[in-house]
Order: sequence, then structure tokens, then C-alpha cells
Amino acid sequence: MSNEQKPLNFLEQIIKKDLADGKYTKLVTRFPPEPNGYLHIGHAKSICLNFGLAETFGGDCHLRFDDTNPAKEEQVYVDAIKQDVIWLGYQWAGEVRYASSYFDTLYEWAHYLVKNHQAYVCDLSPEQAREYRGTLTEPGKNSPYRDRSVEENLDLLARMKRGEFAEGSRVLRAKIDMASGNINLRDPILYRIRNQAHHQTGEDWCIYPTYDFAHGQGDSIEGVSHSICSLEFADHRPLYDWFIENLPVPHKPQQYEFGRLNLNYTITSKRKLKQLVDEEYVEAWDDPRMPTLAGYRRRGYTAAAIRKFCEMIGVTRSDGMVDVAMLEHAIRDDLDKNAPRAMCVINPIKLVLLNYPADKTEVFTAPSHPNRDDFAPRSVPFGREIYIDAADFREEANKKYKRLVIGKRVRLRHAYVIEAQEALKNAAGEIVEVRARIIENTVGKDPEDGVKPKGVIHWVAAHDCLDVTLKLYERLFNHPEPDTGERHFLDFINPESLVVKRGCKAEKSLASAQPLQGFQFEREGYFCLDNRGESTVFNRTIGLRDSSPKI
Ligand code: ATP
Ligand code: MG
Repeated sequence: MSNEQKPLNFLEQIIKKDLADGKYTKLVTRFPPEPNGYLHIGHAKSICLNFGLAETFGGDCHLRFDDTNPAKEEQVYVDAIKQDVIWLGYQWAGEVRYASSYFDTLYEWAHYLVKNHQAYVCDLSPEQAREYRGTLTEPGKNSPYRDRSVEENLDLLARMKRGEFAEGSRVLRAKIDMASGNINLRDPILYRIRNQAHHQTGEDWCIYPTYDFAHGQGDSIEGVSHSICSLEFADHRPLYDWFIENLPVPHKPQQYEFGRLNLNYTITSKRKLKQLVDEEYVEAWDDPRMPTLAGYRRRGYTAAAIRKFCEMIGVTRSDGMVDVAMLEHAIRDDLDKNAPRAMCVINPIKLVLLNYPADKTEVFTAPSHPNRDDFAPRSVPFGREIYIDAADFREEANKKYKRLVIGKRVRLRHAYVIEAQEALKNAAGEIVEVRARIIENTVGKDPEDGVKPKGVIHWVAAHDCLDVTLKLYERLFNHPEPDTGERHFLDFINPESLVVKRGCKAEKSLASAQPLQGFQFEREGYFCLDNRGESTVFNRTIGLRDSSPKI
């Protein structure tokens, strides 16, 4: 996936050197989601990075669920995450892995630390523990339970495991340094009591390891060489290393951090995305406005465009904010090159061609793409009555208006040049029908009288078209940083993020559209057929050009 002409990013440089020096004989990376939500665009960066590095260096990338918190995890998320990784175009090496498969080993290693006087059972309540922990500027204090004997600790740990104690009454902690400048080293928790069934291990456990106690050890068990995570874990690295140094682990992985993806106009916190779903601000995790991979997919984004975007933003050691217009550019560019064209009239009004026989019809052949010879042309039916968009007709207009005006000409895309004669109105004064005449012999040709059309408009034949519903999506948030806390992120939901247009008229060729197949509706934008329920709903992926304010 990575391009050989491009300079190596900092991780590629490190890996290249480690392999050259023989520090590791093979690159092994992992993508370690917690199955507590759907994957979002930030995860895509991590996936492309971890799987991409494995591809570049001929190594392996594992998919490992970091499933240490059964309270928030569910099998549906496990399934959705696997589907999303595959959709993005990656395949993990070997079976899917789970941190929960290592629970027995982790428990043995907890014992090992206890026996080495490096872990103890602590009875401080969560509130007391917080007090004893100190602050960023003040050291913590030793827990009164810190010097329990090995025997007592082993006994209490075994009883914790047997379920003899209430949740929150005791934890197992590492004995490191309550005065450390790094709070993560102030006797961190290794195990907590959770009377909760687990999606993988069922009722086997009522104590669960913390993320910190499971993560690096999982890496070690799996032979991960480079454990790549986002910057917020940099402060955890000393603890990661402490476990690897102090446990009888089979292998020494090394943690590296990179800057996470922040996208403007977008939220990438699973907790907040879950809130949008739970409180029904959106339809589901795969609502086309969600920044989840499932949402982008349903919106009509392609995996190639998302991978391309991840390549464009690159990988650095610092956090930054990426303009969502870059992602929108990536999908627009992909669809421009690859999406077949079709016509769809969003606000139809009828147009009658007075000099075209009522009993006559024709079928024109139109290219499916202006510069893709590999796309078969499409058939476009034509007849006396057609639909055009209300926005493409005015009774009068100035010269800037390059569409249909009474007494003026336009070309019907892929068909004739026409000239408008009159507009019929209803009692409310609304135009209900436009009457026009065809300028003969103008399919693909200029009019013989030399009067050129002012523009080109799209249309569909009334006698042979599809009735479709369009879902016109815009950005879900109308503020570039909805999540900065100045106001609640829900206050910034764009009320026009979804506009549903029913009764739109689409050309007949769209009857064979496949779910999620993308099209350019000429002059209107990129759309894909929804993958849910009715087969006549098209989701707008993105407009034809970037109309968002520049920042
Ligand atoms: P949240 O905090 O929203 O729940 P998370 O980061 O904790 O999300 P995980 O399932 O733990 O979610 O993430 C799996 C991997 O994806 C981690 O290695 C994490 O560093 C990475 N990741 C998560 N969000 C981003 C992001 N915005 N940019 C890059 N990598 C990310
Ligand atoms: Mg996490």
C-alpha cells in the first residue's frame, strides 16, 4: 500500500532499522479494538497503519479484541468490527485473537507478582484510593494494605477470584511507586471485581484484568514486535515496560505512539457516538451521517477512498486536526473516476414537447462515463412527456441563467435541443407544466438555424422512469469543533443533516442498481442505493463540488 517514492514515516524508519539490526526477525503488529462500539474513521487510520506496515515489511498484523471490560462489550460489536476491517480491505494473520483468551496466563502472572512482593490486594474504597493517589503535582501515599504478607495476598486474590467479595471492595494492585511523577506507576490496579458475564468467557470470571495489565502481555504472548498506539498511551509506556521487565513473558514487544486522527465537523469518541445512537439523534450506528465505517459505507464511501484518505494524512508523532474536506475530496475523486452516470430529477415538473408525437418513443444510448470505455453505455428512453427539475426552468431570466426560459433554448442531456413556449399554472400560481418544442435533428448536433442552446439540463422520460426517494445528507455537525466543550456537542447537530425528498424521478437504468453501488446523478451529486428495506432509496454520498466554507 505504501508508495516507494515517498519518504518513510517515523514508524517505517524505526521498523526498517529494527529489522536491519536483527532486533526483531519479523514485524508483527496488531489492531486492538475494544468491542464496545463500532469502528470510526479514527480507527481506520490505526487499521491502515498497522495492516499497512505489515504489508510493507512482509510481516503479520493481528486483530485482537482488547475485551477486558465486559460491562461495556458485546458480541454485536465484535462482529461489526470484523466486518469493517475486512471491508477496508485487510485480513488479519491467523485467527481473531482476544485478550480474554489470555485470562488464565494473566492470572498466573498476577500470582507471580504477588509472590515477588510486587503486587498486593488493596481494600481501599474507590474514594479513598483516589485520595491516596495524589495529584499531578503531589505524590501519593502508600496504601495501608501495601505490606500484606505474600500468603495473605495469595489467599485474598484466590477468594476474589472465587467471588467471595463484593464489587469495588478489593482490587489487586502492582507495588511500584506511590511517589512516581507518572501517576500510572502509582500502584496501578491489575484486577478488579466485576460480577458480570463476559461475551467470550461467559461466567468463568468475576475478576477482570485492567487494560494496562492485559495489553502489553497480550502483545508479548502474540509475539508482537511493534505495539503501535495513539499518543494518549505515551504515559502508559513506562508501565507497559515495567510489566514486560518484571513478568516471565515469552517475548519483548516495544510500544510506539502516533498522533490520533481528529477530523473537524466530526466526533470520534465511541462513547459520544453511542449516545447519538441510544438517544436516537441518528438511526443507528450505520446511519449515513455517522463517522463510523459502517456509516460511511452506507453513505456510499468506498474502502479505497478511505484508505486513500489515510495515506494522504500520513502518520506523525503529534496530534493535529484534519479538515473533513480532505476526506470528502477523496471520495469525490474516487466516484468521479469510477461511478457510472445517470439522470435523476429531484424536484420534477412535467414538460410536454408539443411537436413530438404522443404515440412515439425513442431510446437513446448514452455513455455511462465520459472517459471510461470499459463501462457499457446505457439506454435512455425518450417520449413526448418528460420531467425536468423545477430549478431548471424560469418564465423569464437574465443572461446568467443558463437553463430553460420561455422563448430560449437548452439541450436535453444526451437528447434534443428544445425551446420553451409557455408555462401552465394552477390556481395557486405554481407552475405545473412547461410546454416546449423540439428543434428537429439535434440529437448530438447543433441546430440547423444556428441558434445555439444556452445550456444543458437533465431530464427523464415520464412514460418510463422510476419513482425514487433521495436522502440528502449533509455534515452531522454544523460547528468545526463540536467536541471542544464550550457547548454540549449535541447543541451543534445540524438540523439539515438529513433532508428526505420523495417523488423524485430517475432514469430507468437505475432499476438494476445494486445496494451501495455509487452513481453520479448528472448535475446533482454522487448517490448510492441504500442497503436497507426498499430498493428505491438513494443516499447522497457527497455533492459534485466542495461548497463548504474554507478554513
Ligand atoms: P474511544 O476512546 O472513543 O472509546 P478508543 O480509542 O478507546 O476509542 P479502541 O477500541 O481502544 O477505541 O481503539 C482501538 C485502536 O484504535 C487503539 O489502538 C487506538 O489507539 C486506535 N484509535 C482510536 N481512535 C483513534 C483515532 N482517532 N486516531 C487514530 N487511532 C485511533
Ligand atoms: Mg481505548
